[in-house]
Amino acid sequence: FLGIVGSEVNMPTYVVGGFVRDLLLDRKNYDIDIVVEGDARVFAKTFSRYFEVTCVEHKEFLTTSMFFRNGLRIDVATARTEYYEEPAVLPNVEVSTIKKDLYRRDFSINAMAIKLNQEEFGLLLDFFGCKNDLEKGIIRTLYPLSFVEDPTRILRAIRFEQRFNFKIENRTLELLKKHVSQNYLERVTGQRLRDELEKIIEEPDPLKAIKRMEELRVFEHLFPDSVVDDEALRMLDRYFRRKKSAKPKPVYILAMILLKNAPERSLDYVIKRYGFPRKFPDWIKRAVNISEKLKRTVQSGEQLTLRTFFYLLKKPEPEVLSFIDATLDDKASKLLHDYLERIERIKPRINGKLLIEKFGLKEGPEIRKILEELQLAKLEGLHTEEEEKFVKELL
Ligand code: ATP
Repeated sequence: FLGIVGSEVNMPTYVVGGFVRDLLLDRKNYDIDIVVEGDARVFAKTFSRYFEVTCVEHKEFLTTSMFFRNGLRIDVATARTEYYEEPAVLPNVEVSTIKKDLYRRDFSINAMAIKLNQEEFGLLLDFFGCKNDLEKGIIRTLYPLSFVEDPTRILRAIRFEQRFNFKIENRTLELLKKHVSQNYLERVTGQRLRDELEKIIEEPDPLKAIKRMEELRVFEHLFPDSVVDDEALRMLDRYFRRKKSAKPKPVYILAMILLKNAPERSLDYVIKRYGFPRKFPDWIKRAVNISEKLKRTVQSGEQLTLRTFFYLLKKPEPEVLSFIDATLDDKASKLLHDYLERIERIKPRINGKLLIEKFGLKEGPEIRKILEELQLAKLEGLHTEEEEKFVKELL
């Protein structure tokens, strides 16, 4: 139907980019990007006469997003050429043809279009040997200055390479390495890099891409003084395997693990550059401190118990917790989660007020100690009935 609307307004209409790539790879993709040779706003307005969609215009990029009631979104863009007045800043945009539009894209595998107008419905536009690269499994930039104009493509190349088990083509790889070493990543805003990093973390197997980033010496340019050694990789592996939600933010945990031994100035840099919370260094300090105590406990031959976690953790912040969990093997991690589940569920009936009023105790550390011991006893499954009886009698 998109093609019918396109023909009605006399615009050659194409589906482009990732959708076409995934169609040829026989992979699901619900991100539909349409390019028209004409005014995207007029296209969207006409489309909305037939379908109930909400249109949102992004004037500077000559695009309109159409939102359907069921959550589907289709982006329509006017075919455009982007030209960069300065490297690594967002481009200026000029109306253009589909061929030039495709040429400005990141990699050949993302630079194909399929025509949707009825007369030529299904025609594949492949100007740059894209389909061949897709079949051979090659990530290739379309022009030599590609990484200069947009250094986030360095991260995108690695993400696509690892996602599809492709290979970055030799010349592209050379350029990538060159621009990494010439500090092109440092020219991009932190927010754009963070967005790309988050996309990497959302991949089904982020560790592969992380290893490749390290091999290509990308991390030293993203997080100065970061260390990606076996221990960090082991922690990341556990973290990604166990991660059930995006809370706390995975990019914080990644950075905490890689920067666990970094000096304060690097942490300050990261906070400013990527808009991390001010508490970031504090999380690392606490997480490392607790992890080391846990490690020492194990090394001394002592078993980890609910009691160990109780005294070391209390109720840790989610970021600290994720880090600590990543230092633990599967058995210890299970115990930790058992502890957390209990501490949420099991609350002592006796509180400080009761101790002061009925026992005449004075406010202070003594009461805290008693309450802690009560809570711990309850966590360990002891005294529940006695406590009930005791509280009833008191009340
Ligand atoms: P994914 O499957 O991860 O969503 P995608 O290829 O659909 O991958 P998007 O970020 O949604 O990625 O981008 C859509 C299309 O826009 C890409 O296929 C590519 O053609 C183009 N594109 C996106 N980002 C860039 C960029 N930084 N430089 C050039 N082209 C880009």
